[in-house]
Amino acid sequence: TSRIAERVRRIKPSPSTSAADRANELRRQGKAIVNLVVGEPDFDTPAHIRQAAAAAIENGATRYTLMAGTVELRQAIAAKLERENGLSYALNEIIATSGAKSAIFSALSITLEPGDEVIIPAPYWVSYPDMVLASDGVPVTVACPEADGFKLTPAKLEAAITARTRWLLLNSPSNPTGASYTGAEYRALADVLARHPQVLVMTDDIYEHIRFDDQRTPHLLNVAPELRDRTLAINGVSKTYAMTGWRIGWLAGPRDLVQALDTLLSQSTGNCCSVSQAAAAAALNGPQHFVAESVLIYKQRRDRTLQQINAIPGLSCRAPDGAFYLYVNCAGLIGKTTPDGQRLDADGDVVMYLLDSVGVAVVAGTAYGLSPYFRLSIATSIDNLDQGCSRIAQAVAALH
Ligand code: PLP
Repeated sequence: TSRIAERVRRIKPSPSTSAADRANELRRQGKAIVNLVVGEPDFDTPAHIRQAAAAAIENGATRYTLMAGTVELRQAIAAKLERENGLSYALNEIIATSGAKSAIFSALSITLEPGDEVIIPAPYWVSYPDMVLASDGVPVTVACPEADGFKLTPAKLEAAITARTRWLLLNSPSNPTGASYTGAEYRALADVLARHPQVLVMTDDIYEHIRFDDQRTPHLLNVAPELRDRTLAINGVSKTYAMTGWRIGWLAGPRDLVQALDTLLSQSTGNCCSVSQAAAAAALNGPQHFVAESVLIYKQRRDRTLQQINAIPGLSCRAPDGAFYLYVNCAGLIGKTTPDGQRLDADGDVVMYLLDSVGVAVVAGTAYGLSPYFRLSIATSIDNLDQGCSRIAQAVAALH
């Protein structure tokens, strides 16, 4: 017998974390590794945000705050939702959390009864299925192939819904594909949801600002305001403001869910870090030019890397609308043989071959629920990306 609970033995460590660990281990052994695994901005948190945090420490913002977050931060979040998303939330409909990750996890745990189903369009962010499992739920993954733009179609949504469906998780722009729903696509999904009032919707909007087409990311509630009472909007400062380490996310939603979340969080994490809350408020209320500047840099990297990847025979990649990843189709390499005589049977083999033969670290599509692909992060320098692409080209050329 194990002293670890069954619901925890069911889950696995984040595959992107394990891939990063493996790349770091090889690097420690002296191998020159090009790490294209990381899922966080490579920029520093902007100076005015760091200064706001330093000032908060000096001014005594070092104690417990309200469980839901300071009034100042929740006002900043409410103003952001109004200004950027056209959504109105009262302060008691918002909770600041220790990252979007904890918001999603907690929302699942306050709602799922054993056996409740959660619809997760695949490819998905690696954490979703395990979060559902850890709350005794059943992840129902729905394959959304490249031909559908990696997006959930109304017909597939309809087919996936059962009487046990509790949540639909939507992430746009998506990690790992960068696919982004249009207002019209959201509307068509909302028409299906109208027939199934038992289904709640979680929108993971963490990459909303990182997009390459000068479009504003629409929110589901912009085109389907009637879903407001069963939608939880999740977001945070990690990706937009290069603040992954500060651990500030939030959720906005109907009172009953928010109240239950407040209770659960008050008995688990308590409020999120007071200093980080001050920094996040400064990020939301302060000058926004960092966002546009970093997106421009991501776009240059995306364009350049996309071109290099698409020039490699056997690889192809659809241009992502947003986020900072390329989800590279490697179907053309499956069945080929390495110089050591190893056959590449799956994307995991391709990823292992790239790491061992040319020292390029990427994450296999199996981790995201749709194969054969691998995810490459563009949240790294052009030099690194160029180096990575030329090594991948070299490794692919050596296959037969
Ligand atoms: N949602 C998605 C789709 C992500 O990719 C990530 C981070 O990788 C998160 C949520 C978590 O963000 P946070 O740092 O706010 O916990």
